[in-house]
Amino acid sequence: MVRVPEPGRWRSEKVSHGYVADYKPFVMVDGQGVRCSLYVSGCLFGCEGCYNEAAWSFRYGRPYDDELEERILVDLAHEAVQGLTLMGGEPFLNTRVCLRLLHRVRERFGRSRDVWCWSGYTFEQLLAEGAAGRADTLALLDGLDVLVDGPFLIERRDLSLAFRGSTNQRVLDVPASLAARRPIVWAGASDARRSDADAGSSPSDLAPTVSHADRVARRALL
Ligand code: SF4
Repeated sequence: MVRVPEPGRWRSEKVSHGYVADYKPFVMVDGQGVRCSLYVSGCLFGCEGCYNEAAWSFRYGRPYDDELEERILVDLAHEAVQGLTLMGGEPFLNTRVCLRLLHRVRERFGRSRDVWCWSGYTFEQLLAEGAAGRADTLALLDGLDVLVDGPFLIERRDLSLAFRGSTNQRVLDVPASLAARRPIVWAGASDARRSDADAGSSPSDLAPTVSHADRVARRALL
């Protein structure tokens, strides 16, 4: 059973140790285009069937450090790279690491690299976290371009979905969602059947199809 926190109850500064489970440059399964993916360590949602259960521990992997940050920035400079992906674990319970990197990326690349994030929180929950005093949550959300939101629900699993593992999850355009104060589906979502209904917005059909099955298979190789 997925855990659902009361707003403000889980706080990054209390649970995160600044660890990362993995870093993968030049991947094509963690969002649109060629990407550099950082997997932060630690998640409290406890989804049954999680694709990366090893990263539930906040001490899994190794500490994030200057050396890794510089490597990520060098990799992002490659002309073929479209952007950075933050996943885990739970990025919104590792905001110190994610915000530090996000600030460096925006400082160096501006908006020429997009930033995607996978979170067990829904967009609405993240707004509620911010309203409950978690300024770090709003700061990270504000820096994203695309958010794949919500926990993985095994009873709603659909391995044919692009970018998502279960039909409750949505691929959201974060700037548009923040401006509207409601979830707006990212225009590039190619397979957003449930998201369309959930978020009340109309996706177009442009993006490459990368399914949860692809990501599960890749994680199995790590
Ligand atoms: S939110 Fe993501 S990382 Fe956390 S348990 Fe669920 S699927 Fe796994």
